[in-house]
Amino acid sequence: MRILINCLVIVFLFGCGSKPDYPVSQSEVSREDSLRSLLADIMALPPANTSEVTYEIIFTHETETYTLRKLTIKSYYGDQIPAYLLTPKNLQPPYPVMITLQGHAPGMYISIGEARTERDAKLIAGGRDVALQAVANGWAALTIEQQGFGEQAQGDVVCNDLSLRELMNGKPMLGQRVADVMRSIDFIQTQDNLESNLIGCIGNSAGGTVSYFAAAMDERIKLSVVSCSFCTYERSWLKYHHCACGYLPGLLKVADMPELAELIAPRNLLIVAGEEDYIADIEGVREGYATAQAIYRRQDALGQVMLVEGDGGHQFYPDLAWPKINDIKTGLKHDSTLLEQLSKVNRGFKADY
Ligand SMILES: [Zn+2]
Repeated sequence: MRILINCLVIVFLFGCGSKPDYPVSQSEVSREDSLRSLLADIMALPPANTSEVTYEIIFTHETETYTLRKLTIKSYYGDQIPAYLLTPKNLQPPYPVMITLQGHAPGMYISIGEARTERDAKLIAGGRDVALQAVANGWAALTIEQQGFGEQAQGDVVCNDLSLRELMNGKPMLGQRVADVMRSIDFIQTQDNLESNLIGCIGNSAGGTVSYFAAAMDERIKLSVVSCSFCTYERSWLKYHHCACGYLPGLLKVADMPELAELIAPRNLLIVAGEEDYIADIEGVREGYATAQAIYRRQDALGQVMLVEGDGGHQFYPDLAWPKINDIKTGLKHDSTLLEQLSKVNRGFKADY
């Protein structure tokens, strides 16, 4: 019996679900590592940083269904990342956490459903109050203000111009935003009421792009939701006007966007698209999705990549996305619980040796 259980532990840890069921050659491992290393260079990510996480709670606000905390987290660059942390009241901690990212919105307050202008109300009507959606669906939500937006904007300088200036400094805006997501995950790992093994990242438009690249770089992200931003570059970025904040010099010499799914597989990837998206042809989305499916199929993880298509334009589609996200959460919780139980069993038997 002892041998059987230990074998089950080994099978679970190394042989089922989240791992390919065929031997992985050293060259394949090296290819993934080298691709990630190239991407880190292109994005000019700061070196791996293990410094202590420092943060400050600015205020706490209670509602009937969640607690909201405004905070700042010190970034890898030494500046402060403004953030909201929402924790649900109808669940027991630790909570799964969804990092929520806006696109070119006036600020992260859109994520918590604040409409300060008519434009804000329209953005929220387009499904962008994502932190509230996350809480309503059983997640804690960590909303961060991305560089160049809202509280991180630099005066009247628009994101496009700021991003071009940063490119002259050799620091693509996308890389800086990915680094801030990674630092936010460091913060999550310091919080006892947050489940570090159940971290998702969701974003629309520019936020979706950051969610995708952050998941490619950081394996602590177990689910990436990429809304209205996943496409072949030919049918989106090379065809329609986009803000400079998403361009990465030299990336096409390395990979098209869908090919980078290799760095996310077999972790969960949910692509959300609008059939009438004016900056990403749905045909390009589907072509890219086929590329991602081939990658996931090779890793025996085809069920972990999905595409949902809304019949509208460039927005988020909560009614289509959240049922899929909740199914994924259930699976992740099951895996996490099973892994914990099996690890305890395994540790127990080790003590007998
Ligand atoms: Zn921008």
